[in-house]
Amino acid sequence: MRGDMKVQVLVVGSGLGGASTTLFLARLGIHVLGISKHRGTMPHPRATGQTYRTMELLRVGGVADEVRAGGATGGMVIRIAESLGGPVFRTIVHEEDEIDGGLGPEPYAMASQDHVEPVLVDRARELGAEVRFHTELRSLRQDADGVTALLLDRGTGEEYTVTADYAVGADGGRSLVRTLLGVGRQGPGHLATHIGVIFRGDVGADVGGGRFTLYYLRNPAFTGAFATAHSWPHNLFTVEYDPGSGQTPADFPPERCVDLLRVATDRPDLRPEITAITSWEMSAWVADAFRVGRVFLVGDAAKVTPPTGGLGGNTAIGDGYDVAWKLAAVLRGEAGPGLLDSYEAERRPYARRIVDGSFHNYVERFAPHLAGPDVPAAIDHDTLIMGQRCRSGAVLVEDDDELEDPRTATGRPGFRVPHVVVGHAGRQVSTVDFTGEWTLLTADHAAWRDAPVRVPELDDPEGLLARRLGTGPDGASLIRPDGVVAWRTRAVPDDPATTVTRVLDAVLSR
Ligand SMILES: Cc1cc2nc3c(=O)[nH]c(=O)nc-3n(C[C@H](O)[C@H](O)[C@H](O)COP(=O)(O)OP(=O)(O)OC[C@H]3O[C@@H](n4cnc5c(N)ncnc54)[C@H](O)[C@@H]3O)c2cc1C
Repeated sequence: MRGDMKVQVLVVGSGLGGASTTLFLARLGIHVLGISKHRGTMPHPRATGQTYRTMELLRVGGVADEVRAGGATGGMVIRIAESLGGPVFRTIVHEEDEIDGGLGPEPYAMASQDHVEPVLVDRARELGAEVRFHTELRSLRQDADGVTALLLDRGTGEEYTVTADYAVGADGGRSLVRTLLGVGRQGPGHLATHIGVIFRGDVGADVGGGRFTLYYLRNPAFTGAFATAHSWPHNLFTVEYDPGSGQTPADFPPERCVDLLRVATDRPDLRPEITAITSWEMSAWVADAFRVGRVFLVGDAAKVTPPTGGLGGNTAIGDGYDVAWKLAAVLRGEAGPGLLDSYEAERRPYARRIVDGSFHNYVERFAPHLAGPDVPAAIDHDTLIMGQRCRSGAVLVEDDDELEDPRTATGRPGFRVPHVVVGHAGRQVSTVDFTGEWTLLTADHAAWRDAPVRVPELDDPEGLLARRLGTGPDGASLIRPDGVVAWRTRAVPDDPATTVTRVLDAVLSR
């Protein structure tokens, strides 16, 4: 057996959740080891589309441009239809729709997961993280002082232990970490089983060509979906099947997949080059706990949401960002361990709403026969992504609202800072550009400049900042490293620096 290894954080999994956790920890100087049981990142497109919220977090990680460069640039169209050329039952996103929303400085990107995962892993390594593929977690135990993991090098068959101050389980929907922690799950559970076909082939002038195209297909012959991936004409087609009636993946040999593709695309002459056929399950559930002691769950290990809404991968990156800045603050001695309670307090309700909203979409787009009073109500897509409030000890929340429309953001603590364009150092910048470290935003720099955080000098001749942040011309808004407002005031206290220190002591549990 190899000698023991010691790190500050062990991250199990190198998908979108694990790789982003690893990257964001490394960015903050944490000694982190990321592992994945696979030989490399996953070659399948799956999650396509990074929301503006995800993109502003990826920008902090220094990878927003690289992620965007791998995506479709010609807009987006999403429809429910019988086939690509057949009757359209509903258009969810029209070609001409604005999809950047104007809610932040980073518009949507349309890169797929097979492009994004390697970008995240490469950047994490560049920042000093160690990432080991073909390395499997076998067991995990913890005590008051730390976590001990038994790992298997799948190449050599060698087992070795790693000790860490904390561990993060980003090991997907079948998470071994969650199982070892004994954490249960709640929600509708298994919804459907699909065969996913990844193929290259020209499916027609209306599809692809640089535009992201997603069709939910309700065809008399099958229920499924079609999506273009980043490397068009590389496409993803999925079709539902029923293991309950004895069907298995073996019932979908390439010849049958080609027949189904021809029906789905209305091209009887289509000659697709199939690169992969996989089976996957569509599910909807949320883990009962996102943390047990020194071990945290992120991404699909913490919740699995139907892909109807495109938020599973995005939430995994959001979880990774959240757990990373909080763990780093504690490990660097900038916060007390109490800060770590805010991870579950904030991310679990967020995940719950993501799953509810996506389950609503699932019923509407794939399974109208399930419609009924138990199906959660629709939640506006932008509100789901950007208008959910953080409520925990790490924010000083003023009132009871849980959601707000981010298009009319109020600047209240717990919500992401409103996107306001102001002058700074001779340039026009967004308030959101300060995401990444604690920042005090104020129109009165002279009064607040001694506060023990970054206080940028902002030029706001029209008083937009004061109005949109709700601080007035004299007050200030304290922004967390994730861009969420922690606290705000309309008045200048007698001793602004001491006041800000006290607020930080409270929200950082010190
Ligand atoms: C067809 C399809 C379409 C989708 N579309 C979208 C979309 O448009 N937008 C969106 O946001 N999401 C979408 N999703 C969801 C998205 O793909 C997932 O939410 C996302 O992959 C979750 O990332 P993760 O890192 O949590 O888990 P995973 O990607 O599952 O990664 C798990 C990681 O854990 C590792 N691992 C597992 N067990 C062990 C072990 N014992 N030891 C070591 N390593 C281990 C694996 O090797 C892997 O690296 C889609 C999913 C599917 C199937």
